[in-house]
Amino acid sequence: MNVLVVNCGSSSLKYQLLDMTTETELAKGLFEKIGDQDAIFTHKRPNADKLERVEPILNHKEALRILLDILVDAEYGVIKSMDEIDAVGHRVVHGGEKFADSVLITPAVMEALEECCALAPLHNPPNIQGIEACQAIMPNVPQVAVFDTAFHQTMPKEAYMYALPYEYYEDYGIRRYGFHGTSHKYVAQRCAELMGKHMSDPRIITCHLGNGSSVSAIKGGRSIDTTMGFTPLSGLIMGTRTGDIDPAIVPFLMNKTGMNYDEVDTVMNKKSGVLGISGVSNDFRVIEEAAANGNKRAQLALNMFHYKVRRVIGAFAAVMGGVDAIVFTAGIGENGIGNRDAICNGLEYLGTRIDSERNNIRGKEQEISAEGSRVKIFVIPTNEEIMIARDTQRITASLKK
Ligand code: ADP
Repeated sequence: MNVLVVNCGSSSLKYQLLDMTTETELAKGLFEKIGDQDAIFTHKRPNADKLERVEPILNHKEALRILLDILVDAEYGVIKSMDEIDAVGHRVVHGGEKFADSVLITPAVMEALEECCALAPLHNPPNIQGIEACQAIMPNVPQVAVFDTAFHQTMPKEAYMYALPYEYYEDYGIRRYGFHGTSHKYVAQRCAELMGKHMSDPRIITCHLGNGSSVSAIKGGRSIDTTMGFTPLSGLIMGTRTGDIDPAIVPFLMNKTGMNYDEVDTVMNKKSGVLGISGVSNDFRVIEEAAANGNKRAQLALNMFHYKVRRVIGAFAAVMGGVDAIVFTAGIGENGIGNRDAICNGLEYLGTRIDSERNNIRGKEQEISAEGSRVKIFVIPTNEEIMIARDTQRITASLKK
């Protein structure tokens, strides 16, 4: 069975075609700057030349047509006909409280997704566009939605409620949802496998540290807490996002500077985080280099980031009554040797000991805790595509073609 995994952003479309009998990747690629005259299309196959084209691409539907043509192309293709695509799995950012699992897309599901747009006005509309484009071009191929929020729907109420008047939760759905769920679930499952345990056994803290970052507490195989909340703005310090700040700062800033709410929102989402503190970049590699060259604000940004992650690990160990494994994933988690070291430095009281030699790796699955460390520490490269494809396979398996 072949599954096409699609992840649509406002001007991008990422895809991967997987053969699920062997869970192997047949092709993957990316459309960038959709809507522009010079949109970029990159198509890769394992062990083969990559294709890169710059051309006008009007919208997601057109991108998808180009993709399907390439997948069956004599030179760059990997399948003979479109009939070899058995199902499509879509990443959808927000499933609200309606979706605690992936779901087969039906008209009723589309309606529910539209309702979730209010909760994720930047993310859900392009996800929906991608689904509609696939439905138009491949009307007979089943489509599945896989939600970033679904894995966190198991959080207990005391973890997900905000202490606002209760009716705001009932009337507007204001609560913590959490994001990166597919990634947290994948690395937690892998972590349990690497430990030779069932996922419901170990208490795991998963650290997804990328441009957007979140940490989750996973107990009994379920997410019981996570750092992101109503939106992906809260929790840790991120590349350009504030993470948690005192909400009273918002009206204070508006009064002091004359900025309106949209302007403050842009500051909080795009100009803050390690970029705002360092004044150098949102890219950790650049910040680390500046810090190594004596830039004090760059060093402060790193220190703040590490401190916040360490603080959350302590808090999540507390709510789980201990921790058995810590996992690092995503750009910084997978590649940031110094970052992992700095975060773990000071966590020895929990029973963690990082091994600096084992930690000297990038982008590779490996245990990095020292021999005898009671808490295991792992680097596990995330793989959201395989999770989306597995769910798509599971949900469409019983459908008749
Ligand atoms: P996104 O949230 O956009 O998917 P990624 O997971 O790709 O983000 O992570 C991007 C971040 O990973 C960037 O800040 C980048 O600096 C960081 N990163 C990538 N490689 C390294 C590295 N070798 N060392 C430290 N950080 C790295």
